[in-house]
Amino acid sequence: MVIGKCHICGLEKELTFEHVPPKKAFNDKPIFLKMMESLLSETKKTKGKTNQRGFGEYTLCKKCNNETGAWYAKSYIDFVYQSFCFLSKLSEPKQNQILLPFHIYPLRIIKQIICMFFSVNGNLFCDIHPNLVSFVLNKEKIRLKCGVKIYCYLTNTTFIKRCGIASMIIQDKGIFVFSEITYAPLGLIMTIDSKPPDDRLCDISYFANYEYNYCDTFFLNIPFLPANTPFPIDFRTEKEIGYENIKKIKHYFNI
Ligand SMILES: [Zn+2]
Repeated sequence: MVIGKCHICGLEKELTFEHVPPKKAFNDKPIFLKMMESLLSETKKTKGKTNQRGFGEYTLCKKCNNETGAWYAKSYIDFVYQSFCFLSKLSEPKQNQILLPFHIYPLRIIKQIICMFFSVNGNLFCDIHPNLVSFVLNKEKIRLKCGVKIYCYLTNTTFIKRCGIASMIIQDKGIFVFSEITYAPLGLIMTIDSKPPDDRLCDISYFANYEYNYCDTFFLNIPFLPANTPFPIDFRTEKEIGYENIKKIKHYFNI
């Protein structure tokens, strides 16, 4: 039994395992976890560990896990499947020039995405963003507040990225405050009072403006971006990273 503070409601309770993304969004196979610190440090090598259940952690109480799962997960899984179908038709990373038709429940999808960001961020995140808590715990509530934006991209990367709120200075571009969850076929980025870290990302924040039962076809210009390293918001091509460095990364991760 794992007791702790639920990442959404903030109550001290027994915690349940939350798959991020949901189990049926291709997250039902064992995964191999390696900490970034060991990649960056020469002295702190770790072998990593295998998580048999897929990607996720004990982050949510049973009530939050069951309710948000029942309200939003299926619609998000449908979105992932449609993304996978489009991705399988694209041969190489590129910014699409075409709009892809998705038949979706937009509000349910963005609420599931925000639930996932609650799980990958620390259990203090809910204290700082009470508007987001009520946004996901009230299924009918619409509109995102507090400067939060959600972006996505298509990817065929073998890396799973999970990055809690971080800030990064990019030369000539500025300072970005973001969190990232990338698990093929989708990369998700949340920004807070910040510009998007890459102009090619597809802004889906307006999904929050539709009613819970609203379902329609949306034409989305979601780019297919490379994710050749485990680093967050890194969309460099193999050529830009350098083939020698790519070789080292692949060797380190046994890819
Ligand atoms: Zn809870």
